[in-house]
Amino acid sequence: MSAGHRRLPAVNALVDAAEAAGLLEDHPRQVVVDAVRASLSAARESGEGEPTDGWMADVTRRATRRTRLSLTRVVNATGVILHTNLGRAPLAPVARQAAAGAFGYSSLEYDLATGDRGSRQDHVRDLLRQLTGAEDAVVVTNAAAAVLLLLNTLAREGETIVSRGELVEIGGSFRIPDILARSNSALVEVGTTNRTRLDDYRHAATTDTRLLLKVHRSNFTMSGFVAETSVSELVALGRELDVPVVHDVGSGLLMDLSHWGLSGEPLVKPSVEAGATVAFSGDKLVGGPQAGIVVGPREVVARAAQNPLARALRPDKSTMAALEATLALYLDPDNAIAEVPVLSMLTSDPSTLKRRARRLARRIEGGRTIPGVSTVGGGAFPGSELPTTLVAVPTESADVLLERLRQHDPPVIARTVDDLVVFDVRTLLDDEFALVAEAVTQAKGGIV
Ligand SMILES: *Cc1c(COP(=O)(O)O)cnc(C)c1O
Repeated sequence: MSAGHRRLPAVNALVDAAEAAGLLEDHPRQVVVDAVRASLSAARESGEGEPTDGWMADVTRRATRRTRLSLTRVVNATGVILHTNLGRAPLAPVARQAAAGAFGYSSLEYDLATGDRGSRQDHVRDLLRQLTGAEDAVVVTNAAAAVLLLLNTLAREGETIVSRGELVEIGGSFRIPDILARSNSALVEVGTTNRTRLDDYRHAATTDTRLLLKVHRSNFTMSGFVAETSVSELVALGRELDVPVVHDVGSGLLMDLSHWGLSGEPLVKPSVEAGATVAFSGDKLVGGPQAGIVVGPREVVARAAQNPLARALRPDKSTMAALEATLALYLDPDNAIAEVPVLSMLTSDPSTLKRRARRLARRIEGGRTIPGVSTVGGGAFPGSELPTTLVAVPTESADVLLERLRQHDPPVIARTVDDLVVFDVRTLLDDEFALVAEAVTQAKGGIV
């Protein structure tokens, strides 16, 4: 008899066994029945009969996988700080508390002083004014939406002039030419890929020109024979033409980090001071929740806020709460560095990372430290490599180990360097060390 015809238990028998084992207390009956069926059909297909650790273990694993939420906390050991697939910026503890608090009834659009109706934008407007020097601010769901809103408000049925060197694609589906098309504004490309001068913009201006747009090349760098026009030059030209200037800076750096060797990302404030309207993300270098922040001259922001699209793109209460709490940390720059996780991770110094890596390595069997690099990710500081110390775990089956770490509860996301599975302490919190060590011990069971 071939293994494929080996007798398998009946569905009912296994469901009864599962009930006796208490599985129905943790999972709905239908989930357990489905898990039993899946377990049986896997056994039939593999021809191997009963799973090596028994029917109940297999059924429990399958039922748990079905019942487990799919969007869940993970431990980021990759060293990629703004990991797009892992939700970009992790929030500061105060921002998490603020967001959690706002999920009940909240003062979202309620003025506690007067008892009258308020605006959700009121919670962050003054903070954004103070931190960027802008006259006014409006927040939408994300930076792509902020750019769409500005283009649609300011340049609809007219022309927008953009440098050929700035017609970029950010993260897959955000392409400047496509956003312009959706905003119902005609794209006028000027200059060349590597050089665009002020005169290029000037010569392209017509009576239909509505906007001058500058876009930060977030996810790549250009060097060599290159030239671009500064925001202040564009604003001066915009004044001559009587059209606004929008600067999409992408990451939205609110603090100068050059002291830590991090330069190349535009700060928000200088563009605001130059007179541009600036759009940026809340969940890149700001280190807050997903949001698109617009700051700039009062009349431009007011026009954007009155566009019906602003209503369609408005952020929810948890976003506003987390953003307010995050921005408040910036009122004291030292506090921001210490409390905003993205900033602490970006600025952690190599000797601290080495000490922390040694501490993690001691907890992991066979773990040893090796030099490595972390990356910023999220289309910020492209090309910058942050020296770090990795904890490496030798294994003959890196892929199996990585997969088992992903199956851990909570999942641990690591990466490989030269066939070694590595953990970067830069993106780990100290209180996650025990969890990582335990996940590795469990995951290594049965493999070399
Ligand atoms: C990231 C980025 C965007 C899009 O930001 P989201 O918050 O992801 O919508 C737009 N423009 C630039 C220059 C960016 O870097």
